[in-house]
Amino acid sequence: MKKHNFSAGPSILPREVIEKTAQAVLDFNGSGLSVLEISHRSKGFEAVIAEAVSLFKELLNIPEGYSVLFLGGGASLQFCMVPFNLFEKKAAYLNTGVWASKAMKEAKGFGETIEVASSKDANYTFIPRNYVIPADADYFHITTNNTIYGTEIHTDIDSPVPLVADMSSDIFSRPMDVSKYALIYGGAQKNLAPAGLTFVIVKDEILGKVSRYIPTMLNYKTHIAEGSMLNTPPVLPIYSALETLRWLKVNGGLVEMEKKNIAKAELLYNAIDNSRIFIGTAAKEDRSRMNICFVMKPEYAELEGDFLKFATAAGMDGIKGHRSVGGFRASVYNAMPIESVQALIDCMHEFEKQH
Ligand SMILES: *Cc1c(COP(=O)(O)O)cnc(C)c1O
Repeated sequence: MKKHNFSAGPSILPREVIEKTAQAVLDFNGSGLSVLEISHRSKGFEAVIAEAVSLFKELLNIPEGYSVLFLGGGASLQFCMVPFNLFEKKAAYLNTGVWASKAMKEAKGFGETIEVASSKDANYTFIPRNYVIPADADYFHITTNNTIYGTEIHTDIDSPVPLVADMSSDIFSRPMDVSKYALIYGGAQKNLAPAGLTFVIVKDEILGKVSRYIPTMLNYKTHIAEGSMLNTPPVLPIYSALETLRWLKVNGGLVEMEKKNIAKAELLYNAIDNSRIFIGTAAKEDRSRMNICFVMKPEYAELEGDFLKFATAAGMDGIKGHRSVGGFRASVYNAMPIESVQALIDCMHEFEKQH
């Protein structure tokens, strides 16, 4: 039976990327060696990193003066690496979910941390608006896509202070204006590569301004100086990321991705909105195009387990909602074909007919 992979992360990758990665594991570029057993400082692998950085810059239209880094430690390590490098007196955070609040918790260890707004009391079902960013903050941190709750900031916001964004789950989902950001980071395992790789896009001029000692491995400047080769980088996930970046380019880049992502999200949200038994959980204007959260209407609540079984039997994988939201979550990242979204909708319709 065909499986439809709606997992939130690690998550679906283009079949082509998986096949090409498998090929490189067996024989890297016809070298007779596996990508698993070559030096990260070999000519062959240096070319992989160089092309990956160059495609990052091309696809995201990254202006001059920014560096792209491939690191380990996950998005979670960035929660403390950001304040280590940028926090001098004060930082500001928008609290839109558990990931955002985990990031904020780390900043608090460095000093005065302002929560400019929070949707916590509404279980993070919306993105707060009309908040004030303190003009004397060293930076303002946002989480552009809230993977757990299915809310998303769809535009590149203006900030009077350097803007830092966790884009773990919506990087490469739309064209964006990188110049509005001072730093963008994310774990690669949602929309780019297998787990183990963290990407960072950083504006060089914001670095070197804090007075503390920054441990070498946590210092963006040393990673930039060493071209992500301060120590052994996650070689295999970087190789897969390169294949995904090539796939993005061949498939029309981010303009095309955004079109497809809008079409997929509209299709599923329309089905949810027109359903007798299902209902969406996120505020309509803030609905994520990547993670689509829905639950049973209260009068059908007892059918939740039944639908999960029904959908799983029909090949839908990974649709169980995060425990803090319940219900269902369909993650429809770049690699998810619209046919799989339609298959889920067909499954919802069939279940609705039977109940
Ligand atoms: C998954 C996720 C994280 C955590 O990423 P790790 O790489 O596991 O540390 C952080 N932020 C967001 C928005 C996420 O979706």
